[in-house]
Amino acid sequence: MNLLEEVKSLEEKLIKHRRNLHKIPEIGLHLPETKGYIKRELEGLGLKIVESKTTSGIMGILENRSGKVLAVRSDMDALPIREQTGLPFASTNGNMHACGHDAHMAIVLTVAKILKNHRERINGVVKFIFQPGEEKEGGAKYLVEEGFLKEPDVDIILGIHVGNFIEEIDNGQIGVFKGPFMASLDRFTLTVEGKGAHGATPHKGIDPITISSYIINGFQSIVSRENEVFKPLVISIGKINGGTAYNVIPNIVEIEGTVRTLDEETRRFVAKRMEEISTYVAKSFRGKSRFTYHFGYPVVVNDEEITEDFYKKTLKVLPESDVVFLKKPTMVGEDFSYYLKEVRGTYFFLSSKGKKPYPHHNPKFDIDESVLWKGVLSISNYIMETLG
Ligand SMILES: [Zn+2]
Ligand SMILES: [Zn+2]
Repeated sequence: MNLLEEVKSLEEKLIKHRRNLHKIPEIGLHLPETKGYIKRELEGLGLKIVESKTTSGIMGILENRSGKVLAVRSDMDALPIREQTGLPFASTNGNMHACGHDAHMAIVLTVAKILKNHRERINGVVKFIFQPGEEKEGGAKYLVEEGFLKEPDVDIILGIHVGNFIEEIDNGQIGVFKGPFMASLDRFTLTVEGKGAHGATPHKGIDPITISSYIINGFQSIVSRENEVFKPLVISIGKINGGTAYNVIPNIVEIEGTVRTLDEETRRFVAKRMEEISTYVAKSFRGKSRFTYHFGYPVVVNDEEITEDFYKKTLKVLPESDVVFLKKPTMVGEDFSYYLKEVRGTYFFLSSKGKKPYPHHNPKFDIDESVLWKGVLSISNYIMETLG
């Protein structure tokens, strides 16, 4: 049996894993049911198991002789969304796998099964990393800090995402990218303080709403006037709170938003300029401001050589039409970046959008299960070719 046939023979089980996990979505860093499921499966394969002490993260390790150390990571967490797909295996616990992490777990479990079958052909170590808290908490950071990439030290790490947010690829196509691929994901908060007054006598107060509007324009001018056009940058304000009545000038306005970039230098520059603009604009209109920039997930930077190698090796098992180099990066963030800050690797996409896709994080989001085997095939083949 060749690898393709072997993967196909496990397809039914792969889809079953996905559905079982879809039924039990949990959010955040602590996912007892999900972890229990993964642990049982990894134990069933006879793998050595390492459990995170601070989260529900868990890793299975397959060792055979000495050689390179490869890792493949799946996220495990879901979202606090009430599912509306009407699927027979829909979740009923108030959370939902609305991003496809259920499929990632199913894929990596199936890869582990295949590699276990071929243990004798492997020279080296494979770590199967299951990580909670991708959506919000940055679970990757916890696992890196706990040494999941150490002893033995990981040489190469792979990560996969299914779904539809990369529009360039069609259902069933794998999209790879070299270099900075997914944006940093930062958050900022700003409080603008003025002095409340009657709406009819603004000269007796200091209007924080007017000041805020100047600051917001100032922020957008960083994008249009200070940032080089070839460096992607997004500043979005998602929340403004201020005021209680149409004829009252309030005391304060509270603003929150996000910044996305594809390089670290731009990130630091923007943080500094936003702080300066908010401070000086508020001052120039007699108000005060407090600005805080929270650095979140770093930029996902795919290693060029490994991405090329992954592409070439995947072409040995899938036709050229199935594997494409993406033309542009995405401004979506991903905590896989924490692993890539430590070791080389690549993060890629498998389009599973099906016919009528709903966006990720939508209560009707679903994936096309019939293409998931390609994720299993590409990853198992890469590991076997690299360690074989
Ligand atoms: Zn998501
Ligand atoms: Zn996701």
